[in-house]
Amino acid sequence: MKKHQIVIIGAGTGGITVAAQLMRKNNRLDIVIIDPSKDHWYQPAWTLVGADTYDMEATRRDQRDLIPPGVKWLQNKVEKIEPENNLLKLDNGDEIGYEYLVVSPGVEMHLDGIEGLREAIGKGGVCSNYIDPEYTKKVLNEFKGGNAIFTQAATPIKCGGAPQKIMYLAAEKFKKNKVADETNVVFATPGSVVFGVKEFLPALMKVINRHGITVKFFHKITKIDSAARKVYFQITATDDSNCIAINDKHSIGEEIIGEATVGMRYDMLHLAPPQRAPKFIRMSKLAHREGPNAGWMNVDIHSLQNPDFPNVFGLGDAVALPTAKTGAAVRKQAPVVVDNILKLRSGRKADNAGYYGYSSCPLVTGYGKMVLAEFGYGNKRMSDPIISKFVDTTKERYSMWLLKKYLLPFMYWKMMLKGKA
Ligand SMILES: Cc1cc2nc3c(=O)[nH]c(=O)nc-3n(C[C@H](O)[C@H](O)[C@H](O)COP(=O)(O)OP(=O)(O)OC[C@H]3O[C@@H](n4cnc5c(N)ncnc54)[C@H](O)[C@@H]3O)c2cc1C
Repeated sequence: MKKHQIVIIGAGTGGITVAAQLMRKNNRLDIVIIDPSKDHWYQPAWTLVGADTYDMEATRRDQRDLIPPGVKWLQNKVEKIEPENNLLKLDNGDEIGYEYLVVSPGVEMHLDGIEGLREAIGKGGVCSNYIDPEYTKKVLNEFKGGNAIFTQAATPIKCGGAPQKIMYLAAEKFKKNKVADETNVVFATPGSVVFGVKEFLPALMKVINRHGITVKFFHKITKIDSAARKVYFQITATDDSNCIAINDKHSIGEEIIGEATVGMRYDMLHLAPPQRAPKFIRMSKLAHREGPNAGWMNVDIHSLQNPDFPNVFGLGDAVALPTAKTGAAVRKQAPVVVDNILKLRSGRKADNAGYYGYSSCPLVTGYGKMVLAEFGYGNKRMSDPIISKFVDTTKERYSMWLLKKYLLPFMYWKMMLKGKA
């Protein structure tokens, strides 16, 4: 069995950023990064790909070109973690030992979490930017009118704003393609609000009203019948007065079934599929065993250290943190993980508790328009001191669209993944 000083699981946003920052601090470190994927994707631009304003291939890089020089890459899948033995098991049967472990394997799409989803997805107008933004693009471009239904998952998902961003872009596209008059755009969410940080709600409500979007709260998607082109929701509200919808004047032909099920016919359906941590985490001693975080990796929410195995840290989408799962969050998490590991290696305490839940959701509200929502734990607004000095980011801005489309991808490839930002 080979043993390394630092092993990183996942060469996505979190894994590469941590590896690059560690190497900048000490390029003699023995670091191994494990990831089976030959490609690295810039997922935040998939919203724009689905809306036909960004090239999918521009969101991809060869993984081998991103692994920081001096870091060893094992192109394998981790099958099992034994933190009590400081050991990983890979899909080729190899065992890898570690002194310190960083876990950042992202989430997996749980296609069996909704009845009929596995059969329906990717055809017949059922699309998801989380799975195949190019199919979303085709569906939106070819849409001829009818019910365009956009759903939000009931599980934690990466970039929780993404399901509504593509809806705003779609609504604008339908106007441009002259099918808006024959279209009902519907947002069905299991939540009770459109967005959890109150400062950004007025701008989003303006967009919803501009397009006459019907918003249905407390609607948890449970089943897709692709043959009948129908989608079913469980109504989760306990009180009728909770069920008030926004712009509920369109006839979308709902069918009420029993006490708490609603069926809707769709002509196109966009989903955020249910998501969960990869199996090797869910089955390991690193995961929460019960409660709302069951299955997600357990870390201290400020230091990102596992409470039971102090040589193990986690960041990114697979970790249970009461904030949004985004690349922007990873950017603030990585330096905390790096600092704590280096402290432990030099015999000090891992006392960097400097992550306060920062996350950001670039809420694209149309072609050329964006609201930049930045917040921390408790859904408290937390703005970048430089940007907010010059721009009121609670309003739709063209400058923020330029940030999303051009500056953020540049910063990602050239700075964040190089350990410079
Ligand atoms: C449609 C969409 C829109 C988004 N929009 C935004 C946005 O506007 N702003 C923003 O900041 N973020 C956005 N995000 C979220 C952002 O992409 C993620 O939060 C970020 O990539 C998380 O980083 P990560 O390292 O946790 O996971 P990832 O970057 O997904 O990387 C995980 C890596 O782990 C590897 N892996 C998985 N399982 C194993 C295993 N068993 N063994 C070894 N390796 C494994 C995978 O191959 C992958 O390379 C968006 C995401 C999507 C899908």
